[in-house]
Amino acid sequence: MSTRTPLIAGNWKMHGSLKDSEALVSALCAGVVGSEGPQMLLCPSYIYIQAVGKWLHGSAIQLGAQNLAEPTGPGAFTGEVSGTMLRDFGCEYVIVGHSERRALYGETNELVAAKFVTAQSQGLTPILCVGETLEEREADRTQTIVQQQVEAVLESVEVEALSNAVVAYEPVWAIGTGRTATPDQAQEVHALIRAMIGSRDVTIAAGLRILYGGSVKGANAKELFAMEDIDGGLVGGASLDAQEFLTIFQAA
Ligand code: PEP
Repeated sequence: MSTRTPLIAGNWKMHGSLKDSEALVSALCAGVVGSEGPQMLLCPSYIYIQAVGKWLHGSAIQLGAQNLAEPTGPGAFTGEVSGTMLRDFGCEYVIVGHSERRALYGETNELVAAKFVTAQSQGLTPILCVGETLEEREADRTQTIVQQQVEAVLESVEVEALSNAVVAYEPVWAIGTGRTATPDQAQEVHALIRAMIGSRDVTIAAGLRILYGGSVKGANAKELFAMEDIDGGLVGGASLDAQEFLTIFQAA
């Protein structure tokens, strides 16, 4: 791990209830004392953001969302939530381009890039998710896919925009499968992403946090976070268990 402040982000997806969420937040707040060291971020479902924000009040844990509307709005976009609304309830970060959004909701590289731009224009820090499927990895296309996903954003913004963003490398075959990329596999892609940014601006690349996501657990976090270009994790399943998530946090 480098001098970049590690970020451990929990993506709760569509899990939990109000009651479960309160217990989880309370256990996490008790476990995260002081604002030194790694940062913790929670991304609950939209409906729980307000409540989670209240419970987090006074703690060092940050709040984010899992998605946002692409149009800057306000407007006639039934069912959508804007970044401005998320800011109203204390969100600082937003995940864009999670592989579930790409695979299940047809989000293209272009739409993800547009959401990245919208997020920043509304004062949110986007966490841009990229990663290849198993089929793509087996066809030796990992580099090409990840490059295309990052490139799509770089076509929409100047490289300076990356100084207020986070990238998460999440191999699709490792998400929710219990199968984690080895530290070397992850490091290889993280280094590629940093080099892509570095070819445009070395300082921005050096400061960019690149998280690993894909079945991160207490048991494998330390070896992943020990890699030079891995600056924390985007955690799904294990972020729903306070003890497990705190173990991951402590590993950073
Ligand atoms: C994720 O949802 O981004 C994720 C990495 O999930 P999991 O940790 O469950 O693999």
